[in-house]
Amino acid sequence: MTLTNAAPPAEPTDAKGDGSARERREAKARRRRALRITIAAVVVFFSLVILGGLGWYLVSDVQDLGSETVAARDLLASSEARVADPATREALSAQIAETETLLAEPFLTRLTLGTTDAGEALTAATDAVRASMVDLARHEVTSARKSLKAATNRGEEIYAATKGKGADESVRSSLRAALDVGGAADASASVTFTGTDLAKLGQAEYDLSTNRSVVTAATEAMASAQDAVTCPAPDQVWDPDSGMLEDSELAKIPWAPDFVVRADVLDGLIALDEAYMAEFGQHLTINSAYRSYASQEELYDPSSPIAAPPGCSNHGLGLAVDIGGGVETFDTPQYDWLKANAEAHGWLHPAFAEPNGRVPEPWHWQSVLAREGS
Ligand SMILES: [Zn+2]
Repeated sequence: MTLTNAAPPAEPTDAKGDGSARERREAKARRRRALRITIAAVVVFFSLVILGGLGWYLVSDVQDLGSETVAARDLLASSEARVADPATREALSAQIAETETLLAEPFLTRLTLGTTDAGEALTAATDAVRASMVDLARHEVTSARKSLKAATNRGEEIYAATKGKGADESVRSSLRAALDVGGAADASASVTFTGTDLAKLGQAEYDLSTNRSVVTAATEAMASAQDAVTCPAPDQVWDPDSGMLEDSELAKIPWAPDFVVRADVLDGLIALDEAYMAEFGQHLTINSAYRSYASQEELYDPSSPIAAPPGCSNHGLGLAVDIGGGVETFDTPQYDWLKANAEAHGWLHPAFAEPNGRVPEPWHWQSVLAREGS
């Protein structure tokens, strides 16, 4: 064996070396393709994720705006006649219309325009309506409190004026209870007033109104009970103010300055006097007008029907005058003229004082504002 013979066939050292390089190149190329494909896949994947996220965001944004619009429509309907400022509802209505127009646009248009501004504007408009509803509810609570306060003041006055005056004590206790419950409702409403809860404000207004009715009814019941005891004649009405008017509530009769009437009926009396003067050339002769409680007490004689018991006379309210100068007798020209003309100026001759009445008193005339019992 020689080395030559033993040498391997002339082959492939080179060929074999060339083949390996190709394989390596091909392998490298495959790896690059794989890498490119992977990169492309990753890019596509993330693009899809981003696009999907953006799409989801836009769709959910539109859905949110859609449900907000539905809620706004409900609010618009439920707030009718329940806002302090109707302009807030008009603004909300316009904003809903604008939002609905936007929601009806094609997707790409919405994408371009965006829905954020519309959402914020709608929120602002609904907030304004809600605030205006609270304003109105508070206003209603305030006026209900005022009404209850007026009823309570009158009730307290009657309660004080009937103390020890012989009327049914159980009626008086009921009035006290109604006044106390009314006071509690007012205290509660003053707390609710500071909040913005519409349901609570509505409930407070209802409670105040209910209590006002209860207080008014209890007050009327007490006044009737006192009337039954103090003013037995059906045409007389008991009034705690009778004979208790302040000087500021009264006005002097200009041609008879010793006498006063309630200030708001003086103009009518003056007008009546002017017409009487034109007819008869003289003033009405005034013999009596407002009487204090004390002077009515002096006049009152239980054995005579002429003067009413204290607390029962329209003289005590400044709403009655006794007239002479011919009027003190029925069927005189002066009396007949007054019968025909007094009412045009707010004065009349009441039924109880008519010739066939309980106490025929031609001289007694009273304002149309005076109450007369049944
Ligand atoms: Zn009189």
